[in-house]
Parts: sequence; C-alpha cells; structure tokens
Amino acid sequence: MSDKPTVLLEHYLKQLKLPTMLREYAAIAASCGKERLDYATFLLRLAEREVIDREQRAAERRLKSANFPIVKTIDTFDFKAQPSLNEELVRQLLRGEYIHRRENILLVGNVGTGKTHLASALAFAACAQGHRVRFFSVTGLVTHLLEQREVGKLERLQKQIERYDLLVLDELGYVPFSKASAELLFEVVSRAYERRSLIVTTNLPFEAWTEVMGNARLTGALLDRLTHRVHIIEANGESYRLRDSKDRMKRKDKRNPEDKKE
Ligand code: ADP
Ligand code: MG
Repeated sequence: MSDKPTVLLEHYLKQLKLPTMLREYAAIAASCGKERLDYATFLLRLAEREVIDREQRAAERRLKSANFPIVKTIDTFDFKAQPSLNEELVRQLLRGEYIHRRENILLVGNVGTGKTHLASALAFAACAQGHRVRFFSVTGLVTHLLEQREVGKLERLQKQIERYDLLVLDELGYVPFSKASAELLFEVVSRAYERRSLIVTTNLPFEAWTEVMGNARLTGALLDRLTHRVHIIEANGESYRLRDSKDRMKRKDKRNPEDKKE
C-alpha cells in the first residue's frame, strides 16, 4: 500500500475507535498474504482480535470499577472450615441467575466467619459474567453519601450507583447510624428494590437491626425490601482467623511442649 491509503486507513480506524485493528492490521495482512487467505478471512481475523481485546478491556474496567478492597475468590474459600454453611446454595448463587431475577443475598454470621470473603467471591464471579458490580463497605458508602449531599451532589452519586447491576454492602451493623445515615442507606436499598441485586453482610440478627438503624419504621421498611426476594446464607461457625491462630498455636505447642508448662 502506498502511504496515502495507509494514513487514511489509520485515520478511519481511529475515528471508528478500533485500536486493536489499527495496531494489528499490518501484521495480520502480512500473515494472511503469506497463507494466501482471502479478504474475508483477513477481515474476520482482524475483527476477532478487536472483539477479544475489547472484551478483555471491558472486563478489566468492570473489575477496577467494582472497587474490591481485596480480590477474594471461591477457590480460596475452605467450606470444610465452615460446615454449617450451605455450600450448595453458595455454588448455585455463584452462577449469577439471581442477578437477572433482581434477588438479594444476605450473609449473616459472627465476625470472621467468611462473610466478606464470600460476598467478594460472589461479586467477583458476577463481574466475570459481565455484570456491573460495586463493592461498598456500609460505613464507606454512608460517609460518601453524606459528603456528596453536603456539596449538593447526592443525586449524582445516587445515579452513579444506579448504573450497577449488583451492589455489595459489606458489614452492616458494626457502627450505629445517625438518623441521616440511616435514611441515606434506606434510600439506596429502596432504589435498588426490584431494579438491581444487593449482597449485604451483617453480624446482626434481624431483631437487632432497629437498634443500629435507630428507627423501627425505617428498619421495617428496609427489611421488607431487602428480604422480599432474598437468599440467606448463615455462617454460624467459629471465626476462621481465630481457628487459624489456634491451630498455629497448637502446632507450635507440639513442637515446643515445654512452652506450655510455664
Ligand atoms: P467476616 O466478614 O465474616 O468477618 P472475613 O470474610 O473477613 O470474615 O474472613 C476473615 C479472614 O478469614 C479473611 O482473610 C478470609 O479470607 C478468611 N476466611 C474466613 N473464612 C474462610 C474460609 N472458610 N476459608 C478460607 N478463608 C477464610
Ligand atoms: Mg466482614
């Protein structure tokens, strides 16, 4: 090709936002030429590359925008360490159909029983399936909402939140809410109702929610929306961290039996 068509082609590919085609067309044209392939096959190979790259870029963007504090997946979750957990339900939810049905997931249990790990793993799986996912700690979300309201940008943030298919609200109940915080959280849950899925993790049994939210009517309304279509996963076992360190102590004791006598 003489220079002019190349320059024009590159200009068009840029204008059409086809960066992979722009980068690869010369190499793929050369290899197709060598293999004596027809024009349609050349175009097919080029388009394929663009599609694959585009999907990969979108997956990276989704993962970044999900804002996971730490990426945890199901491969590193040890179900044997938490025998009370309904593994079958977790495995079913990992397939992500609940998101199409706009259903919620509630993970309830004591500290250290793997609720955040499971919520992250479920959200990560959803992200890989192409869903738009956002992870929030409840306190982080509420603080952010309060801040944006302060500067008159609450509506904008709420609209941003509405672009997601799945929201994780991690650790409800560790910090009691002010009236304003409780109302803002209620608004998130209420706007999500039947429009997107929520995964909520909490150490609170339902009876204790009013105390943390500080308002019985609001709590009732929130629970009503959250639990209308909900999968409840309970983790009643011992704290994984605690068990882990106890195991380590035991192993240490076995190695140095003298240590224990003191
Ligand atoms: P919770 O949110 O219930 O307080 P986390 O999910 O934060 O508990 O778990 C605490 C730590 O222990 C994390 O590092 C988590 O990855 C790990 N953990 C908890 N349960 C398990 C498990 N069953 N298998 C593997 N790691 C676990
Ligand atoms: Mg947690």
